[in-house]
Amino acid sequence: MTTALIDRFGRRIEYLRLSVTDKCDLRCVYCLPRGFKAFEEPEHWLSFDEIERVLRVFGALGVARVRITGGEPLLRKNLAGLAARIKRLPGIKDLSLSTNATQLPKQALALREAGVTRINVSLDSLQAERFHELTGGRLDQVLTGLEAARQAGFDPIRINMVALRGVNEDEIADMVEFCIEHDFTLRLIETMPVGSTGRAAADHYLDLQKVRERLAQHYELIPSVMPGGGPARYVRVAGTNLRIGFITPISQHFCETCNRVRLSVDGTLYLCLGQEDKLELRPLLRAGVGDDELKQALVDAIARKPERHEFLEKPAQVLRFMSMTGG
Ligand code: SAM
Repeated sequence: MTTALIDRFGRRIEYLRLSVTDKCDLRCVYCLPRGFKAFEEPEHWLSFDEIERVLRVFGALGVARVRITGGEPLLRKNLAGLAARIKRLPGIKDLSLSTNATQLPKQALALREAGVTRINVSLDSLQAERFHELTGGRLDQVLTGLEAARQAGFDPIRINMVALRGVNEDEIADMVEFCIEHDFTLRLIETMPVGSTGRAAADHYLDLQKVRERLAQHYELIPSVMPGGGPARYVRVAGTNLRIGFITPISQHFCETCNRVRLSVDGTLYLCLGQEDKLELRPLLRAGVGDDELKQALVDAIARKPERHEFLEKPAQVLRFMSMTGG
């Protein structure tokens, strides 16, 4: 039987984004609408046993990296317990987490002890009022969460900033200085038209190629690399330890090197962030499918992985919010 997940375009799938909840305590303008409450029913959530089973099979098929995400993953009860179970699975070499950091003061240490090494924290503004407008949350909670991550020994800590024209564009330089000061890595992200919120935010789309050119007028930027397997293109700021990653799904898409798929909390395996192609795993798992059948279902699904997203050609295509797919 096939032992690797290779799609029809020769791309090897070795990275899984695992969403453990679609709930979030924030409402980022480009992600979840204010007042949104239509979350997945708890009986549809994959249990920890079901997640472990699927990831064991993925591990046997060559998936080596797992990033836990959501929604806000730290809202799922006993996430550190799940992380420890994933970390022990054969083949899984790298376990990382994306979070908004609000719950990190309570959970950072347990997650670090469970074997999560790398952490990404979303932070779009360093101005308390603007942060609240953009997310509905409190900046001080995130800053305290970042401090807790540092104390717990996460390394690297990366800041994910969705850069929006006319919204937080004027803070990119402040964010660069903040990350130099705190020894964080900065990743700038182009907004994507996923869900009605993502489409509305497209009015504020900012081309990161231009941002890079502007930064290069102030800093010497040296092409660089970071471990992780993600799509960011990195530069190092000369004379500092700061690395800045540019994630440019719109201005310069990276689909030809896409190495990932996404498993949502209800057991849907999404084959592309920008397409509807998927495999419903929950019915298979709950019907008592055997490991070989599960493996074959995954291999067959990967064979259907779309060549690329069509955010520019068909911006209205993806109805689900990012928090549902797992960002
Ligand atoms: N709650 C966690 C967090 O804040 O990182 C994990 C989930 S969140 C959906 C993951 C990432 O997706 C965040 O960095 C967020 O900014 C990004 N995101 C959400 N909607 C987006 C959109 N429409 N375009 C680009 N990035 C988006």
